[in-house]
Formats: sequence, structure tokens, C-alpha cells
Amino acid sequence: MELIHTVDWMKQVARQARAEGAIVGLVPTMGALHEGHLSLVRAARERCSRVTASIFVNPKQFGPKEDFQRYPRALERDRDLLESLRVDHLFAPPPEEMYPRGFSTSVTVEGLSERLEGRSRPGHFTGVTTVVLKLLEIVQPSFAYFGRKDAQQARIVRQMARDLNLDAEIVVCPIVRESDGLALSSRNAYLGESERRAATVLSRSLASARRMIEHGERKTVPLVERIASELAAEPLAAVDYAEIVDAETLEPIERLDWPALAVLAVFIGSTRLIDNMRIEPRAGGVVCEL
Ligand code: AMP
Repeated sequence: MELIHTVDWMKQVARQARAEGAIVGLVPTMGALHEGHLSLVRAARERCSRVTASIFVNPKQFGPKEDFQRYPRALERDRDLLESLRVDHLFAPPPEEMYPRGFSTSVTVEGLSERLEGRSRPGHFTGVTTVVLKLLEIVQPSFAYFGRKDAQQARIVRQMARDLNLDAEIVVCPIVRESDGLALSSRNAYLGESERRAATVLSRSLASARRMIEHGERKTVPLVERIASELAAEPLAAVDYAEIVDAETLEPIERLDWPALAVLAVFIGSTRLIDNMRIEPRAGGVVCEL
């Protein structure tokens, strides 16, 4: 695996790959890799002849009071993990490579970026879409892999790809969870022992809503109430939002008549965690995917 730090060199490698007719897959990450990230790499490895992973802790997607400085960084370990999965190129630019002096362009997907996470983290998705567009331009992949863990992000990146006629197909992969249900996240490293136990309340509350749906509930108000009451029962949890929204528009819905997402953002102590469940009406009933 080749480690690449500069945009120029990454672009040269990407041009060469295209000239050779390679099918390039890109897996963008912020590093501190875990099985969630690795599942994306495996999906890319399965379909693509060349896999590029990127590690870039993107300053533009962190608010001024957020955890940019303390975000976990583990390049050596990440590199070994990616190497073991036969990744071809690791693009790990320093911030000044991506945002040189005078950098002044940003990309915003309007509407979708203002809801849910966007309401709590103003400017976050502009940071995300700006960096993702840059990465897609630099690496020129045929496929780019994202996790449903960040469902709103995946939805927004898809919209950007559609609106800007990008060549890359955006592939969204399932959420990888710990055996007790907690969705893997680099931020789980911030949790103390009792917080780690408390953090299972996110997936437990979603699973509880799933049981109601399996018993025939189709109205969202009682489902959201159930989620909220489960979360409220956990003393270490403070809810930022808990909603059931249309999977396309991310607007709240009243009934489960089309694909939806139950989405949560919850502080466990000072750590902000997100989780979601996809809810999909099918011919034989409603299928929930945690
Ligand atoms: P991050 O490093 O947090 O920016 O995440 C990089 C990519 O990995 C994003 O597309 C995330 O949605 C995805 N990802 C993070 N955690 C998980 C998980 N538990 N399961 C699946 N994908 C994940």
C-alpha cells in the first residue's frame, strides 16, 4: 500500500489508474479506524480493482466548540489495518494540502443540510460536502463508500452527486454494531466505563420502537414517545433529538407509509453519539434495519 500525503501525487496516481482502466473505489474516513470503516473497505475491495482509503480529520466539519483537537488520531495503526485489507492507496493529506492559504470555496446541499444534525451543528454538512467533493475530484473513483451510521450525511452526499452530475456512484453500507448493539464510532473511545454501558440505550430505544412496529404500530407519535421514554430512563443520557423522518426529505412524518429513518442524537456525559434505524414498508409488512 502506498501512503500519499499530497494532492498532486494523489491526482497523478488517480490519472494513471484511470488510464489503466482500473475501477477505483474510494473510502473516505477521519481515521481511528474500526470495524465500521473496515466494512466499507471490504465492500470496496469486493467490487473495485483499485481501492483508495482517505484519512483526513476535516477541520471544516467541526464547530468551534467541538472536538477537532482531541479527535482520536492513530495513523500508524490505521495504516497497518488498511494494508492488511489490501488497500492500494492511503491518501492522508495534512490540512494545509486540502485547504491552502486563500482557500475560499464551499459547497452546500441546501435544505437537507439544515435539518437534524445540521440544526445542532451549523455548518457541519457544508464542511462535509466540501471535503467529499474535493476527495471525489482528487481520486476520481467510480464508487465511493459511506456508512448508514451517518444516514443524513449519506443522503446529503447522494444529493450532491446527483445535483452536480458527479461520476462516482455513492454506495451506502449497513451499520456495524458491537455485540450489545452500540454502533461503532471513533467517538466511543471518549466513553468512560459507566458511560459505555449507558450508551447502549440508543440502540435499545430503537429496538424497542422496532418491536412496536413488528406488532403493527404505524403511527410515528407513539413510536417517538417510546424512544424518548427509553432514553429518559437512562440517567447519563441527554437527548439532543429523536425523530422519525422521511428517508428522502428528512422531514418528520406521521405514518410509516414510505421509507423512513428513526434518528437519534444523544449526549452520554459529554460525548455526543448518533444512531438510526431504517424503516421500510414492503409488500409483506414493515422491515426495520438497525
Ligand atoms: P468517520 O471516520 O467517522 O468520518 O466515518 C467514515 C465513514 O465510515 C463514514 O461513511 C461513516 O458513516 C462510516 N462509519 C462510521 N461508523 C460506522 C459503523 N458503525 N458502521 C458502518 N459505517 C460506519
